Amino acid sequence: MAEAGNKTKCLIIGAGPVGALAALYAAKRGWDVEVYELRGDLRDASTTPLNFTKSINLALSERGINAMRHSGSDGLLEAVLSETIPMYGRMIHGEDSKGDLTEESQLYDVHGRFQRAVDRGELNKTMLDYLEDLPNVELRFHHKLTGADFRKRKAWFEIQPSDSRDHQRRLQEIEVDFDIMLGCDGAHSAVRYHMMKFVRMNYEQSYIDTLWCEFTIPPASSEEESTVSTTSSAKDGFRTSPNHLHIWPSSDKMFIGIPSTDKTFTCTFFAPSSTFASLEQHPEDLEQFFQQQFPGAADLIGPAELQKQFEQNPHLPLISIKCSPHHYSSSGVILGDAAHAMVPFYGQGMNAGLEDVRVLFEHLDAHPATAAGRATALETYTTERVPDAHTVNDLAYANYWEMHAGVRSRLYLFRKTVEEF
Ligand code: FAD
Repeated sequence: MAEAGNKTKCLIIGAGPVGALAALYAAKRGWDVEVYELRGDLRDASTTPLNFTKSINLALSERGINAMRHSGSDGLLEAVLSETIPMYGRMIHGEDSKGDLTEESQLYDVHGRFQRAVDRGELNKTMLDYLEDLPNVELRFHHKLTGADFRKRKAWFEIQPSDSRDHQRRLQEIEVDFDIMLGCDGAHSAVRYHMMKFVRMNYEQSYIDTLWCEFTIPPASSEEESTVSTTSSAKDGFRTSPNHLHIWPSSDKMFIGIPSTDKTFTCTFFAPSSTFASLEQHPEDLEQFFQQQFPGAADLIGPAELQKQFEQNPHLPLISIKCSPHHYSSSGVILGDAAHAMVPFYGQGMNAGLEDVRVLFEHLDAHPATAAGRATALETYTTERVPDAHTVNDLAYANYWEMHAGVRSRLYLFRKTVEEF
């Protein structure tokens, strides 16, 4: 067995943000680490762009930052943070009774603390760069986990053609031994699926009746900065304030924007599936729909781009997953979206996944580096982590109301109080 040489052989499935951080933690413990990723290397320009399936920009908070801080990789956190933009609060966009555009800055913290906007792909690439330099880590792209036996500690992978047009080629399958497998393979986790055959896992999955589509607000050109297509808080070449998470709330719909270092904003339109269906049928209504629901947002994107991006960018669902336990014996554990995919309204999905890694290795470090010690560590990890994962999942649901309606009702309440005073 792999552990006979006293070196723990660890397979990490998925090289997303959680898998990449988990590999750094495992490598630091001297383990033999093999990372298997279904897709190609993100750093390779021919790999399908991330926004085909995932949001480009994310809010990075202390939960995720702290996990990177403890990775033991010198300079990693600084490298990641240098490519982030501070967001000190939310900017709520709307219209007053005269139809003029309004902006309302709501700071996150009286002490000036903030969260950061980060490019998901860049964060992921930085971690892959660090991994590549480590002698005890092997990165294997185009490898899809197809099976795992957690008792015999064997896994099976299909080697995917690196050219997606190469459907004809016979797929090659390989078998790999392991001591421990960390399943960081996202919401539709194959590790979780195979682990369920070995452990009585309770599992709950739901889709909310909301779809999302990504849009981009371009940078402001120098002439534009003084025209109506920017907002009053625009600065430094951005079309609206770069230091806020922008929200256009609208009953059961919402439009949000997060700044990027290239002075664009990555925006997400959330709405019920029926709204998407109606706009897909009548795309000519899109601009007017935006003008009514999200005043000012269409002007920032530009009407032609609004139309084009709605037609070209995917319209994706939102899944929420709770399960327990997160591990099997000493040989398997799931982390990140594989263990607790959540709706994105609390901005904590990736942050909580990165925190899983820190907490898991705290438990592993507290027990002997043997199979028995690892089994105890995984047990105590599940005991601590499952309630936390379920709670952050519930908070993410609750924050949907806060973002698309609550931010506004507070504003209305405040205005009403001021008017009455
Ligand atoms: P993933 O990023 O899904 O990575 C899983 C990896 O596993 C992928 O690379 C995949 O190719 C690979 N894989 C899958 N199956 C296999 C297999 N069989 N074999 C090998 N490899 C496999 N989170 C935040 O913290 N802040 C935010 O602001 C935020 N905003 C969001 C906005 C939207 C619209 C959405 C949808 C999500 C948002 N999230 C946010 C959540 C965040 O994107 C996820 O929580 C995070 O990407 C999870 O990371 P992960 O590494 O666990 O999984």
